[in-house]
Amino acid sequence: MTTITKTVYQLPYTEVKDYKMFINNEWVESASGKRLESVNPFTGKVWATAPAGEKEDIDLAVKAAKAAFETGEWSTYTGAQRGALLRRLGDLIAENAEHLAISEVVDNGKLIREMIGQTKSLPGWCYYFAGMADKIHGESIPVDVPNMINYTVREPLGVIGAIVPWNSPLLLTLWKLCPALAAGNTVVVKPSEVTPASLLELAKLIKEAGFPAGVVNFVTGFGQTAGEALSRHPDVRKIAFTGSTATGRLITKNSADHFARVTLELGGKSPNIIYEDADLSNAVNGVLAGVFAASGQTCMAGSRVLVHENIYDQFVEKLVARTSQIKLGNPLDMESEMGTVAFKGQYEKVLRYIKIAEDEGATLLHGGNHPAAPELKDGFFVEPTIFGDVTNDMRIAQEEVFGPVVVLIRFKDEAEAISIANDTEFGLAAAVWTKDVQRAHRMASKINAGTVWINNYRKVSYSSPFGGYKSSGIGRENGFNVMNEYTQVKSVWVDTGNIITDPFKIL
Ligand code: NAD
Repeated sequence: MTTITKTVYQLPYTEVKDYKMFINNEWVESASGKRLESVNPFTGKVWATAPAGEKEDIDLAVKAAKAAFETGEWSTYTGAQRGALLRRLGDLIAENAEHLAISEVVDNGKLIREMIGQTKSLPGWCYYFAGMADKIHGESIPVDVPNMINYTVREPLGVIGAIVPWNSPLLLTLWKLCPALAAGNTVVVKPSEVTPASLLELAKLIKEAGFPAGVVNFVTGFGQTAGEALSRHPDVRKIAFTGSTATGRLITKNSADHFARVTLELGGKSPNIIYEDADLSNAVNGVLAGVFAASGQTCMAGSRVLVHENIYDQFVEKLVARTSQIKLGNPLDMESEMGTVAFKGQYEKVLRYIKIAEDEGATLLHGGNHPAAPELKDGFFVEPTIFGDVTNDMRIAQEEVFGPVVVLIRFKDEAEAISIANDTEFGLAAAVWTKDVQRAHRMASKINAGTVWINNYRKVSYSSPFGGYKSSGIGRENGFNVMNEYTQVKSVWVDTGNIITDPFKIL
């Protein structure tokens, strides 16, 4: 039997799609009537619009979420009931994976080839956390007081504000939504102003799955208005944020006034370290996957490649040769290997960094421009770009570009590799390519990063914690322990027979 695979996917709409946002299970406009535009980065044209929500809209959404949490039907649900709804959501995402993928590709220019796989993996997050919903329990504690029972319960926090970026809106929202809902919280999501569409498509599925009104709300809008209002709202008990380090800093300050918890997944400048005994073809593919997938717009991009001096020239030759074969093209075409940068501002930022690297004296080994092919002229494309002869003190080695730009740095021994790897404000991820198992584990223990891959790059799972050291973040997402980030502990004391004879003697 032959399987016919579509090569170029299409949006089901021909006209500009005007979305509404989702508050209290209703599709609504913003109170001000203002709208924002989403530009397809392949065509450079507006393909969708969405409400530009502001403080008033955030207030409505938080009010709905608070009511759902405190007195709504949701507040009476058992863990098993919450789990059943999450499982239903997972099934609906699986049924609609292709449409969700297309919506995100047209919003941010990521490859359909990657997004089809990613949207098919998303139900895994729903199912994993659905399984947690009825397993959240406290402990019975043996206290040092006679005739006393002490036990703890884990309770949800209340209203969670989820603020997400444009590079992977669906994935990064589900990382927050699934554990938050499994624990019984309610959520207000603030999508990036650049990519509202795929999350409003997700909102349709949340409604269809049967979540009660107010449990999940989506307020589209800009960061400085809607985002800031959410992080300052006194009824929001936690902000779960993914985005830039600068915004993370602001959100932490703004939410401090009402002591909301924060988890922050921020930027990176992750080292990808290649030893002389590595399988070089494998390492070359790992470097490409690490930095050119999603056009380099992933927080975990392996954007600093540290290469042992004995294999530097050989590695450069192989890397440049393979990079020159990368097929840039329509992100909706399954044959394309690299899509666009997500929007004009980001495209200009990437080109600015390429200029900075050249001015700093780095050697341009590949790319560096908008590609010449006429069919790519309207898109925000940047060629896969490689700089050699980089030293770790250069701005191009220290600052996050968030684009398809990789720098190559030589090292002579393990001590130098560790020192360069850790000489950064960030600490999100790292990889080590070597066949020496002892060295691999030594490196994993010495690198200051939340994730270390050995002989691979960019693997994540709902069951494995993800997050950053240093300026790359606070807290973790995914894995069993994330339930602690979405719950708080109550300690309950029960006296089984003491008589209080002296009210001024506590113990
Ligand atoms: P960003 O910080 O500009 O925006 C992220 C979100 O914050 C958006 O929804 C935006 O509207 C909102 N926002 C902006 N200003 C705000 C404010 N003052 N108050 C509240 N909200 C505000 O980031 P971005 O450009 O959308 O995303 C790229 C960044 O995200 C990169 O630095 C990347 O490394 C990081 N990122 C990190 C991870 C991770 O898991 N560590 C994953 C993906 C992306």
